[in-house]
Amino acid sequence: MSRDALLKTYMDMVEDRTEGQSEFHQAVRHVAGDVITIEKAHKEYAAAKVLERLAEPDRVIGFRVVWQDDAGEVQVNRGWRVQYSNAIGPYKGGLRFHPTVSPSVLKFLGFEQVFKNALTGLPLGGGKGGSDFDPRGRSDREIMRFCQAFMRQLAPYIGPDRDVPAGDINVGSREIGWLFGAYKAHALEFTGALTGKGPSFGGSEIRTEATGYGLIYFLEAMLAEHGDDLEGKRIAISGKGNVATHAAEKAVAKGAKVITLSDTSGTLTAEDGLTQDTIDWVRARKAAGEDIAGAPHAEFAESASPWDQEVDIALPCATQNEMDASMARRLVDNGARIVAEGANMPLTSDAQQIIADAGLLHAPGKAANAGGVAVSGLEMSQNSHRRFASRQEVDDALKDIMRHIHAQVAEEGRQGNRVDYGRGANIAAFRKVADAITAMGAI
Ligand code: GLU
Repeated sequence: MSRDALLKTYMDMVEDRTEGQSEFHQAVRHVAGDVITIEKAHKEYAAAKVLERLAEPDRVIGFRVVWQDDAGEVQVNRGWRVQYSNAIGPYKGGLRFHPTVSPSVLKFLGFEQVFKNALTGLPLGGGKGGSDFDPRGRSDREIMRFCQAFMRQLAPYIGPDRDVPAGDINVGSREIGWLFGAYKAHALEFTGALTGKGPSFGGSEIRTEATGYGLIYFLEAMLAEHGDDLEGKRIAISGKGNVATHAAEKAVAKGAKVITLSDTSGTLTAEDGLTQDTIDWVRARKAAGEDIAGAPHAEFAESASPWDQEVDIALPCATQNEMDASMARRLVDNGARIVAEGANMPLTSDAQQIIADAGLLHAPGKAANAGGVAVSGLEMSQNSHRRFASRQEVDDALKDIMRHIHAQVAEEGRQGNRVDYGRGANIAAFRKVADAITAMGAI
């Protein structure tokens, strides 16, 4: 059978079983498209039905989260943990609190996490969780009570050797502190069952910065592979959260010009590049739950997109499917040469096709944003050893891991003097997970 016929048969099976889960279908289709012929050509993988098994998470735990708001009114939210695969280590992946969270979104994120975590070279399986809870407009006490109620439901299913959640959108070190407090009260022991903790209770240095910094280290490796560097490069970044602001900070420190940051209210632009004080201001506004209009030393345009600027490099760091086909076309027309994903699956399938047809280098999130989970892996091993690594030690380890991910992906994806990063990442990660699944038999 041809690749297209194999992919169609496989995706028909996946879609029949999971009707309506469009984000999940999108993520599975991209990986399967790159690896299905490898699975079929490899006798052991084919006999073990690795791809068919990977179309189904190990389990999805769903629960009700009941809590009381400041007015004393009872609130009811939905929560989930997708324990996708522990083939190469304990389930590992973030928790997201956002109204768009659904089983489809968490399954796509859990699926991607399995492959991302494999690329880090650390013993980490993949999972993802969260809730449809919207922290916007909620007081600190309400968010704390929500975290406690959420953890009351989740705690029986996690643990340092079982499943180790961390943060994701709207779950930062403050929320991890509340979640960890509630976990510790439930478990009656102090274990590293969460990462992204505060430095005074087992958190690792650099964990907060790791996804954004790691993205820039990966980008440097991409540029070096193609005989170039960051100096003077014009970069558009979308988002204003942890990933976007830390990527911006590191890019500026390395001599690049960051032209934009954005949120749902609009885009901040500085023709000569945003300065560190503007990035700090954006970070403070995000922490206060405010939008980014009125930043110092930058223009704010409502409803403008970061992809309307003339830039060399685009770093989408907001959320899934944030860049559609028309935005991708504008980005290409504006002369961008590289897209590296800080967010998970930020391009629609059509946008991805446009970027590929235009010949841009395109690094997928599972490779480019793996720095966050990689430092989570380092936090887990610091907790197991009951020690703290220094900032320098962790930053050096993060750089090494990102260079190593780049090397593996480039090796699998090299085509002449260019690299197909999407294909390289999918194949390198798939081989690792498939080897583990195959070795453990039909279980
Ligand atoms: N949520 C992050 C990610 O998308 C980090 C997960 C973790 O540290 O476990 O990879």
